[in-house]
Amino acid sequence: MSNFKLSKTSLKRLEGVDEKLVKVVKRAIQETKVDFAVAEGLRSAERQNELYKKGYTELDGYKRKSAHQLGKAVDLVPYVKEKGGALWKLEGNEKEWLEIGRAMLRSARLLGVNLEWGLTYNLKRGVDAPHFQLKK
Ligand SMILES: [Zn+2]
Repeated sequence: MSNFKLSKTSLKRLEGVDEKLVKVVKRAIQETKVDFAVAEGLRSAERQNELYKKGYTELDGYKRKSAHQLGKAVDLVPYVKEKGGALWKLEGNEKEWLEIGRAMLRSARLLGVNLEWGLTYNLKRGVDAPHFQLKK
């Protein structure tokens, strides 16, 4: 068991997210050795399209929807005070990212939830380390 707990902001960002996925996140924060924050959960079509226009995603939010728009995905980020807070970059922070992935995938397995992690599930489209989504 860790001493970490989700911040109010993180909990707020889980609103509208699939209950199964929320359970996985809540379990993961209890067992991770590295603290993390919820960066994003449910996403509107407008927000998805904004990210699309910035080139962050191939999904435009209208013709092609993201799992975020259905409440089936969350983005998490490691949070380590000693390293300056949120560790957005994978490079140089591999250990922290892997620990969060481990905690999430283990929690999902224990809860019987089929979860995939953006670091591993679609290497062709590029690594998306913060992204965890329910498998269809
Ligand atoms: Zn995402």
